[in-house]
Amino acid sequence: MRKINLIVIHCSATREDQTFTEEDLERCHRSRGFKCTGYHFYIRKDGAIISTRNVGQIGAHARGYNANSIGVCYEGGLDCNGRPADTRTKQQKHSLHVLVVLLLEDYPGSRVCGHRDLSPDANGDGVIEPEEWLKVCPCFDASTIL
Ligand SMILES: [Zn+2]
Repeated sequence: MRKINLIVIHCSATREDQTFTEEDLERCHRSRGFKCTGYHFYIRKDGAIISTRNVGQIGAHARGYNANSIGVCYEGGLDCNGRPADTRTKQQKHSLHVLVVLLLEDYPGSRVCGHRDLSPDANGDGVIEPEEWLKVCPCFDASTIL
């Protein structure tokens, strides 16, 4: 088993009024050349937690951080106008919390962060500020999950 010390949260960057199934996600990632979905878990709007890649396999979701991390993605991330927004349903918030708690039991001490928090620290002050985010994924503060 590979060493895991990081849990990275993502959004699918799909509109909240759009349905984007795990099959849609897999098709999308295969078309980008991945052998299956790049994330390990996908959380649907109804709160269903779907295992999309074996955690023993290195994911394809956060450049430079895949080797030691687990990628978790929720369905949504854009409002009805296509703008980035925290579109998590009540069920998604609950499932995200439960999943992260369980993963931390398996991989104690792991850091939990959002994809955006892995952006480079451009001004070197030790904090990744909003103006430094290369992308806004997952469109909410991942430190609020626990
Ligand atoms: Zn992401």
